[in-house]
Amino acid sequence: MLSKRIGIDLGTANVLVIVPKHGVVINEPAVVALSVEDNRILAIGNEAKEMVGRTPDTIVTSRPLQEGVIADYRVTEAMVKYFINKVLGHVRLFRPEVMVSVPAGVTSTERRAVIDATKRAGGKEAYLIKEPLAAAIGANIPIGSPLGNMIIDIGGGTTEVAVISLGGIVSWNSIRVGGNKIDLAITEYIRKKYGLAIGDKTAEQIKIEIGSALPLEQEIKLEIRGRDMIQGLPKTIVVSSSEITEAIQDQLDKIALAVRAVLEKTPPEMSADIIDHGMILSGGGALLRNMDKFLTKVTGVPCYVAEEPLLCVVKGTGHALDSLDLYKKSLFR
Ligand code: ADP
Ligand code: MG
Repeated sequence: MLSKRIGIDLGTANVLVIVPKHGVVINEPAVVALSVEDNRILAIGNEAKEMVGRTPDTIVTSRPLQEGVIADYRVTEAMVKYFINKVLGHVRLFRPEVMVSVPAGVTSTERRAVIDATKRAGGKEAYLIKEPLAAAIGANIPIGSPLGNMIIDIGGGTTEVAVISLGGIVSWNSIRVGGNKIDLAITEYIRKKYGLAIGDKTAEQIKIEIGSALPLEQEIKLEIRGRDMIQGLPKTIVVSSSEITEAIQDQLDKIALAVRAVLEKTPPEMSADIIDHGMILSGGGALLRNMDKFLTKVTGVPCYVAEEPLLCVVKGTGHALDSLDLYKKSLFR
């Protein structure tokens, strides 16, 4: 592939790579498998995710980005390099210009680290774009407009809420609550109520298959397997969507509070704009059933799910790469 530009959404749960005019070429979990003995990288992405919960004690799997910050620089760099190589191949005619989206709250040290990692990974030029801006661009929000628009991106490790106007972020908030904490709440609930230990993958599967932010009119049930904590043996139970709604309520309330905090900090004229246009939801958490209705209910402001919420950030990164001049003032380099 001879393309000279690539965009990367370096998420806490998933890494996506876009090549303008080719579309999204990589969409893999942000997971790395390491050998315990010498900290060697054994697998990255899909291959590493397969190992989660199934590794012998000589291998650990880790998520190099946790709660929206880089928990491990070396591993993050290796992961960025791996994905760039996967897209461009090892033999290259061009060194690419790379745009990476980063959480709105990253410190200048973290920004530096991502830029350095990208350059060491082979990038000729590295640009950074704040995630809420990329999400908004990817959700087709006219970010250059003087009207205020609100984007709520619910990822794996964080939820970022931002009001955007004239290409910049007017007010924002980020909390370390996202899909992972929701999964954890499900695990805890099942452990307490049924004395059953379940793995992370099972918890996520329960959320995706029967989870809902508001009680469903027609309840759904799911059979799940885990390990009985008293007998230590495998056991199957049936859980219902209303139980999961109850289990995740505290985490959802935290997200709602974060949204309210931003609404409260927003200048009055822009609040009026937001009430008119509604708040836009992106990120994987936007796919939780009734998340939009829940936020509408608790804030009184209409909320809508963006098209393809999991792709908003990476698509926004791609658009920004395509129109560098237009977005120049919203980027770091
Ligand atoms: P990040 O940007 O942090 O990498 P993503 O935006 O890729 O995160 O979203 C990943 C999160 O979305 C995970 O916690 C995953 O469980 C959750 N998710 C994905 N699909 C769904 C779904 N259908 N319902 C609820 N949550 C979902
Ligand atoms: Mg994300």
